[in-house]
Amino acid sequence: MSRRSQRPILEVRDLTKQYQPTGGILGEKPDPVKAVDGIDFDVYEAETIGIVGESGCGKSTAATAMIRLEEPTVGVVRYRGEDITDFDANQLKRFRRDVQMVFQDPDSSFDPRMSIGDAIAEPLIVQGMDDRDRREQIVADLLERVGLSPSDAARYPHELSGGQKQRIGLARALAVNPEIIIMDEPVSALDVSIQSEILQLIQQLQTEFGLTIIAISHDLTVIREICDRVAVMYLGELVEVGDAADLFDTPKHPYTRALLSAIPSPDPRNRGLGITLDGDVPDPGNPPSGCRFHTRCPEVIPPEDLELSQEVWRSVLHFRQRVRDGTVDLESIAQTAAIEVGMDHAAIDNLDVTDVPSSAVIDQLRRESDLPDELADETANETLEQALQQLTNGKIEMARETLSRSFTTVCERVTPSLVSQGDRTVSCHLHTPPDEDASVTQQPSTGADP
Ligand code: ADP
Ligand code: MG
Repeated sequence: MSRRSQRPILEVRDLTKQYQPTGGILGEKPDPVKAVDGIDFDVYEAETIGIVGESGCGKSTAATAMIRLEEPTVGVVRYRGEDITDFDANQLKRFRRDVQMVFQDPDSSFDPRMSIGDAIAEPLIVQGMDDRDRREQIVADLLERVGLSPSDAARYPHELSGGQKQRIGLARALAVNPEIIIMDEPVSALDVSIQSEILQLIQQLQTEFGLTIIAISHDLTVIREICDRVAVMYLGELVEVGDAADLFDTPKHPYTRALLSAIPSPDPRNRGLGITLDGDVPDPGNPPSGCRFHTRCPEVIPPEDLELSQEVWRSVLHFRQRVRDGTVDLESIAQTAAIEVGMDHAAIDNLDVTDVPSSAVIDQLRRESDLPDELADETANETLEQALQQLTNGKIEMARETLSRSFTTVCERVTPSLVSQGDRTVSCHLHTPPDEDASVTQQPSTGADP
């Protein structure tokens, strides 16, 4: 809309931050941790934009790299059209006044020996305001604006509640009249009842001061409450960016859908889509190939030539992953199978997998991997059967190959390109235009297997 016609106040391009872990086994140099891996987005004046994603997705790193609190490894950030990576010390000082950051943990951001008034006045002194009366006036005014009283200036951090400390944090950020405030998990440390008070205050201050706000949270409900636009982050990348109302109404990326469906609904008839995200965010030192979300994606695309339901396909893929990772515990599966078929206890105690009838082990493997007794697709069924046989015969490497050869998805082979649809940007093969997908798939499928 009108936002599009403005020049963004902040333009982030290919922002990348890698950490080089020290050490490593036998002096080998470990792979760099790609905490933020090439993100692009714009921030428009007087909007509140949210960055959301599970813990460890790289949100905080993106924020600190964006304002050069930590130097980005690659990338350009333009503030009102000027590249901040070129800024000299003076320009950087002015930029750091214009862009304030409020950190997650209010405790670590206050010096316990400094009164509240002094804490709020500190940035004013740093910026060279010598007039003490003027400073006190500003502090009193700010305290009122964040819902506290001027007399609170004499108090100390330990006398304050979490919510009050967050108010002080906001007052201190506002002291130097910033253009942009970045809030990293602004309410995560607070009780839910206090959270909404602080979120309301943030919105009120945003209007009052015409602020641009970048709000970071792992909690989608927080983002939904205060943001005009949202950027969804997964494992160092942005997977979907768009207008908040629109994005929450029709999420396009399966990760966004999964995050949304995890929000408890106050309406008991509507319990969301019931999608749960299995496991944790993978290691950013060794991210999955193709679409980084494919290892956890509830909508990962089945191979074209196999007719499998999404649910069965997910189970097959998950099973393949476990075989590949070597996390299928055959011995305990054989033990359970042995009990099922009624083998006697003495035999079970020192059991060899081959002692148990392989059909019983396979049945048990299917049960605990949510694999049906038979797959609807004949080819897929034969392949799976073969792999299960190989596995129970101890030919794990062969089973691994059988599964990898037949059960493969475009999601793991090809990195999805970023697609713009109106105000929305999505990076997911489900949304890649067919012609574009075709051209991408013709490239060698680099990184298909580790
Ligand atoms: P978020 O804020 O989304 O929870 P972070 O930006 O804190 O995520 O971290 C992203 C990833 O980068 C995590 O895997 C984290 O372990 C890693 N990371 C963050 N800071 C460092 C650091 N100083 N050294 C090495 N790895 C780091
Ligand atoms: Mg963080």
